[in-house]
Amino acid sequence: MSFPVFDLHCDTAYALLGEDRNSVGSLKKNGLHIDLERAGTLGGYAQCFACFTTPMMEQWYHISPITIFERELATIQREIDKNKRKIGLAYTAQDVRRNFEKGKASAVMTLEGTAGFGYDPALLEDLYMIGFRMVSLTWNEQNPLAGSCQTGGGLTDQGKVFVEEAQRLGMMVDVSHLSDEAFWDIMKITRGPVVASHSNSRTLCDVSRNLTDDMFRAICETGGVVGLNQFAKFVGDNANLDTICDHLLHFMQMDPDAEHIALGGDLDGCDQLTEGFEGVHSYSAMAQRILARGVGEDTLSRIYWTNALGVMERCCM
Ligand SMILES: [Zn+2]
Repeated sequence: MSFPVFDLHCDTAYALLGEDRNSVGSLKKNGLHIDLERAGTLGGYAQCFACFTTPMMEQWYHISPITIFERELATIQREIDKNKRKIGLAYTAQDVRRNFEKGKASAVMTLEGTAGFGYDPALLEDLYMIGFRMVSLTWNEQNPLAGSCQTGGGLTDQGKVFVEEAQRLGMMVDVSHLSDEAFWDIMKITRGPVVASHSNSRTLCDVSRNLTDDMFRAICETGGVVGLNQFAKFVGDNANLDTICDHLLHFMQMDPDAEHIALGGDLDGCDQLTEGFEGVHSYSAMAQRILARGVGEDTLSRIYWTNALGVMERCCM
């Protein structure tokens, strides 16, 4: 049995830049976590491709995050174009459905961190026109918009304008890397569904990148979704397919019909995956594990596909 997969976060665009952050690998087939060949074994596929930037890139590579942002963007656009019979850019949920019906995968462009365009809310409209449909405010640093899970610090006035502008344009707001303070600041002002694209349960794995039960419930109340993350560090000790199921079942105690749970594997953005999860094709093995834990097929297909599609429908016009 195969299920279509809609995954809310990967860093494949960044990983394809290679060691020197300059070379471009291929989306068709590579040694990373995601390529189209392995995704082709799934029963359908939609993937949010993040353009990841942080001011730390200056120190890491002596390259401006603006330059890296442009290279990631060019990589996504070029790889979609080179493989256009297999994958198409999706601006709306309708585009994802249309691609699916044609047997094609969908790529949704998203932002992880805002250093790549100088934290400027006025540039969001340009990013929207290019095709970005989900934005985060920061990665792991405190910046002019908000504090992060590693630094603390709330939402700034500029951050508030950023959230309002993103939601006005029709972009999903992603809270995965935010500090708790900034998370709750956004909950006070949000006018639509909020997404934690790649975060697990802090009750089961106590790291600041994961969500407390109150945070999970607050996201449910907005009509948003949470994407299950395969990074072993955020799954917990002995991270394997059963422990990732534990996170799912814990969220389902608060959301019995699993209407607010989705996938956000963090593939190509983490150095150690959950055991038994080797790459995008492993979503099939994970589905079998979830079914074996007593979750029904209808519920599984909501988690794997419909919930992410629904939140995109509600946010992205
Ligand atoms: Zn991340």
